[in-house]
Amino acid sequence: MRTLTKDLQQEITPEKAVELLMEGNRRFVNNLRINRNLLQQVNETTQSQHPFAVIISCMDSRTSAELIFDQGLGDIFSIRIAGNVINEDILGSAEFACKVVGAKVIMVLGHTSCGAITGAIGNVELGHLHFVTNKIKRCIPKKPIKTSDSNYNELVSTVTEDNVVLGISDLRTRSPILAELELSQQIKIVGGVYDLSTGVVSFMDLPKVSLNKQSNLEYAVQN
Ligand SMILES: [Zn+2]
Repeated sequence: MRTLTKDLQQEITPEKAVELLMEGNRRFVNNLRINRNLLQQVNETTQSQHPFAVIISCMDSRTSAELIFDQGLGDIFSIRIAGNVINEDILGSAEFACKVVGAKVIMVLGHTSCGAITGAIGNVELGHLHFVTNKIKRCIPKKPIKTSDSNYNELVSTVTEDNVVLGISDLRTRSPILAELELSQQIKIVGGVYDLSTGVVSFMDLPKVSLNKQSNLEYAVQN
C-alpha cells in the first residue's frame, strides 16, 4: 500500500475508508500484514500527512490502532484515551483531523475486557480517574452491576457497546463541525469493538445520523 498523498486521500470516499479499515483488520487477523518500508514512509511523509481515518480508541497496550488495522505511517490519526471517552481536547483533535486535514471516517473503538469500563462499573476511585469513569457511567444502568452476577460479562459487553454509541453521540451533538461534515456526507462516523482474544474488530450497526440532535443523545442514554 502506497503512502497516502493528498490526491490519494481525496479519492477515498467515506464508505471506502470504512472498507480500508475492515480490510486492514482482516489482514491483521490472518497474519497477512503488508510489509512496509517504514523508513521510506518517514521520508515520504516528512513534509505533510494525509491520513484517511481517525481512530478514537482506548489507551490499552493491546489495542494499538496502527497494528490492529494494519496501517503505516501517515495513514490514520490515532487518538487514545482510557475508555475511549470523548472530551473537549478530543473533539478539537477530531475536528482538525477531518475539517483541516481531510480524514474521511471517524471510528470510536471500544474493546473487550476494558479496565476503564469495569472500573466505572465497580466505582473505582483514584486521583483524576473520575473524569474518565463519570463519562462512562452515563451509560451504566441504574441497577448496580456486581461481579457475582451470573450475566456479569454480558452486562460488561453491553456497557462497552453503549459507551461506543455514547462516544459517537458526543461527537455528533457536541461538535457542529463534525455533525455538518457527516450530514453532508463528507465523513462517516462509525463504531466498533475490538476483541482482545481474537484480534477481530466488530463493526457496529448504528442508527444513521439524525437532524434532530437531541434524539441521538436520548438514544445513547436510553440504550
Ligand atoms: Zn480499555
